[in-house]
Amino acid sequence: LAKAQGYGGLARYDARDEDAAVERFQLANELRSALAEELIYIELQPQLELRDSGAPGFEALARWRREDGSMVSPASFIPIAEATGAIVALGQRVFQLACEAILELAASGFPQARIAVNVSALQLAREDFVVQLLNTLSTYNLEPWQFELEVTESLAMHSFEHAGGKLARLREAGFTIAIDDFGTGFSSLAYLRRLPVDVLKIDRAFVSEIGEVADAHAIADVVLRLGQRFGLRIVAEGVESRAQADWLSARGCDLGQGFGLARPMPLAQLIDWLRARTAGDATPRR
Ligand code: C2E
Ligand code: MG
Ligand code: MG
Ligand code: MG
Repeated sequence: LAKAQGYGGLARYDARDEDAAVERFQLANELRSALAEELIYIELQPQLELRDSGAPGFEALARWRREDGSMVSPASFIPIAEATGAIVALGQRVFQLACEAILELAASGFPQARIAVNVSALQLAREDFVVQLLNTLSTYNLEPWQFELEVTESLAMHSFEHAGGKLARLREAGFTIAIDDFGTGFSSLAYLRRLPVDVLKIDRAFVSEIGEVADAHAIADVVLRLGQRFGLRIVAEGVESRAQADWLSARGCDLGQGFGLARPMPLAQLIDWLRARTAGDATPRR
């Protein structure tokens, strides 16, 4: 398209490209110092039992607040962290923060909490990844059952030969393994059968339109049946309405995560949220 506009058009196109590259470079540098200065923190989003609203787990989501208070969206810093390799340090930091959150939850009367962390392809590819996770755990005196590791479908399927072995080791060590954003990647059913996983997370693209768009539920339905056949736990992402939660629950979906159930929150707020629920009546909330 740029070529069709002639030489001038092409030159303008290049300049824009360069601006974007410079911006990415600056953001990558800024991210490195943000990590060092502890401007990266996590929010935790509950994963709720759809049948009785129990909250057995929470997903840790990276957040970046600049010195001036402005937020940088994960949609901009995660891809840059992936492209520059900073995702390895970021992922380690998030895991430490998740460990600290588990300790604080236990100290606040919630000793059974499990936290899911996102693991990038670059982390998983590293020789020392498994050992490092286990070392961090022993530093905090925690155990693998308290964590779930979310890997994206594309990653797990793409570098299957490599990832499969590592995932198997992590699973043997006691971590729960989840496939994130399921349905958006290379859905090779044969690979799914051979991958050492416990949980499928249906991507929110297929969940948030349930009840809104005709036939939007077809993929969610297929993923649910598939997961059930393989004996996997299913988490539906992006549950935004009661109707969606009910639809999913009626089809045997165990867990839901979404703005319609609970938003991601900083740890202190999450503890208040958990206390308010247990302080309420004995009957589960809907
Ligand atoms: P994800 O792992 O699929 O996380 C779920 C994302 O969906 C989160 O976005 C969450 O805030 C959002 N979400 C949850 N419920 C709803 C809903 O009902 N509606 C809508 N529209 N969105 C909902 P967030 O926090 O912006 O993170 C985006 C992505 O960035 C994550 O997607 C994950 O792939 C990546 N990410 C975040 N933190 C980390 C991290 O520590 N490490 C790595 N490697 N990736 C991370
Ligand atoms: Mg995730
Ligand atoms: Mg996801
Ligand atoms: Mg997603």
